[in-house]
Amino acid sequence: MTETMAETKKAETHQFMAEVSRLLHLMVNAVYSDREIFLRELISNASDACDKLRYEAISQPNLLEGDERLRITIIPDKAADTLTVLDNGIGMDRQELVENLGTIARSGTRAFLDRVQEAGQGNGLIGQFGVGFYSAFMVASEIEVTSRRAGSSETWVWKSDGLSGFTVAPAEAETGISRGTSVKLKLKEDARNFLEADEIERIVRIYSDHILFPIELKIPGQAERQINTASAIWHRPKSEIKPEDYTQTYRSLTNAIDEPTLTIHYKAEGRQSYAVLLFVPKLRPYDLFDPDRKGRVKLYVRRVYITDDAGILPPYLRFVRGVVDSEDLPLNISREMLQKNPLVTQIRSAVTSRVLSELETFATKDPKGYDSFFETFGSVLKEGIYEDITRRDQLLKLARFRSTAGSGWRSLSDYIANMRPNQNEIYFLAGEDIGRLAASPQLEAARARGIEVLLLTDPIDHFWTSLAPKFEGKQFRSLSQGEVDLSAIPLLDESKAQEKEPEGVDVKALVDALRNALGDLVTDVRASKRLTDSAVCLVAPRGGPDLGLDRLLQRQQQGFNSKPVLEINPTHPLIAAIGRRIAEKGKDEAQEWARLLFDEARILEGEAPTNPSEFAARMNRMILAALDQA
Ligand code: ADP
Ligand code: MG
Repeated sequence: MTETMAETKKAETHQFMAEVSRLLHLMVNAVYSDREIFLRELISNASDACDKLRYEAISQPNLLEGDERLRITIIPDKAADTLTVLDNGIGMDRQELVENLGTIARSGTRAFLDRVQEAGQGNGLIGQFGVGFYSAFMVASEIEVTSRRAGSSETWVWKSDGLSGFTVAPAEAETGISRGTSVKLKLKEDARNFLEADEIERIVRIYSDHILFPIELKIPGQAERQINTASAIWHRPKSEIKPEDYTQTYRSLTNAIDEPTLTIHYKAEGRQSYAVLLFVPKLRPYDLFDPDRKGRVKLYVRRVYITDDAGILPPYLRFVRGVVDSEDLPLNISREMLQKNPLVTQIRSAVTSRVLSELETFATKDPKGYDSFFETFGSVLKEGIYEDITRRDQLLKLARFRSTAGSGWRSLSDYIANMRPNQNEIYFLAGEDIGRLAASPQLEAARARGIEVLLLTDPIDHFWTSLAPKFEGKQFRSLSQGEVDLSAIPLLDESKAQEKEPEGVDVKALVDALRNALGDLVTDVRASKRLTDSAVCLVAPRGGPDLGLDRLLQRQQQGFNSKPVLEINPTHPLIAAIGRRIAEKGKDEAQEWARLLFDEARILEGEAPTNPSEFAARMNRMILAALDQA
């Protein structure tokens, strides 16, 4: 034994560097709800160590000699209150122990501390940050790391209570470690649940199931057993994977019970490499309409689970579940850093495009299957038409609609192929109930011309249509807003065109009389170009929100409450008769009839009369008068 060796044999005491101390202070003192992530961190370090050894062994195969099967072993010892995470990976020499576990602050540490400073406390942040090795001090009162670097004959022991610094000394006796690292935690009293096999298995399943090395549970006195799958299915070639395997993976990733409708599995190589395995469920997940609209695509970095929360897909694709596993991202990446990381931004955009193009393929190859997908998730997908300007055209192409053309789903291409001569716009009606929309008087002029009208009933429809989008150069146009003139489009039955204004009625005078009588209740009264059979209807004034959107917003106490326009049908016998009557009797009668027509129009819109008891009294008066005359 040489002189220097003899000297280093003594235990050295070291201080943690300042930032590490601050971090440890937080770990030791705070109570975190997500303490269990310490195990993820230790397993991830063990897995990294195995990865590193595997890499070094490519050029130095002797490093693996005698112990070829790289693995991670978890040893709960209830008698001693210790939990040990053991690996036969690369290991650390003395200097590495000192530097890696005490004196070199990693960028993640600093970012974490900065965030804690901003937030005033660390609660909830630890799970989002890979704070690494030190997170073990959340559950341990003392940690002993015993390690031997691959190829070395020296074993070193690092020890700390996380408070007063740490010591490094050569291993005293035989440690049983011929290569790799043992991290032994003396568990705090309130952390003994981490000694339970069930608990360990649960945590491993959640966070580390897809670590590629076997993770074995070794309970003293029992045989070891593997508790992870140790195979990331997304890294396997598609040709080797059976549909059942995908279903299994889908279910274990999502806790769902259905089958995926669509499976998207590929590997991106190039500027970045990452594996993608995504599923579109058959059934609606229970949290689909949670207000947070969070995506559920798990981000892995080199097979280590990082977060569900990286926003890999935009909110309008939040029904897609699965995994993106990056080879290039740093493991210790925080949620905040993820948002800005240019690699993540690139992954996001590429994966989003891929999902949309896979949906397009699905729609072409299996139109029926696609329709039922759309039935389930269309209302979510359509949020993208509103939110994602860059992909609006693509999303409009993917959208399916109910329409007056029949009971099935229609694409916009179907619609355009079915347009009538001189038709340049895409007509729609938005509301809550398909039956009521289909019966709406606002459809009449379109129906008389055989024009197909989209019937939109999802709340989101009000929003994206309010952006007045175009599809293939054709403008979307609401039939219940502003003036709609369809007269350039030929009637199906040209003889109806002869039906001109009735004899003896001054339409302009009638409109003026009604307008005066209704006053503030309406924005305007006008003769309608959209009615053929009904006497009246309400439409929204041009420029404001559509009637349906206004109602929707009012329900959330933020409507414009804009006043509608009353349209009357001068060719309708009732309107003609009322016109003659008002001309004869004057202003008082105008008031009575105007209110009746207005309330009728409200009822057609599915609303109550402005004043139900007045409405009933007025009806009664009129019916009586009619009966007396008869
Ligand atoms: P990170 O894993 O992000 O680097 P950690 O705090 O988890 O940060 O670990 C710090 C360093 O300690 C690691 O980078 C590694 O060099 C070393 N280390 C930790 N655990 C092990 C282990 N089981 N085997 C070898 N080295 C390890
Ligand atoms: Mg780590």
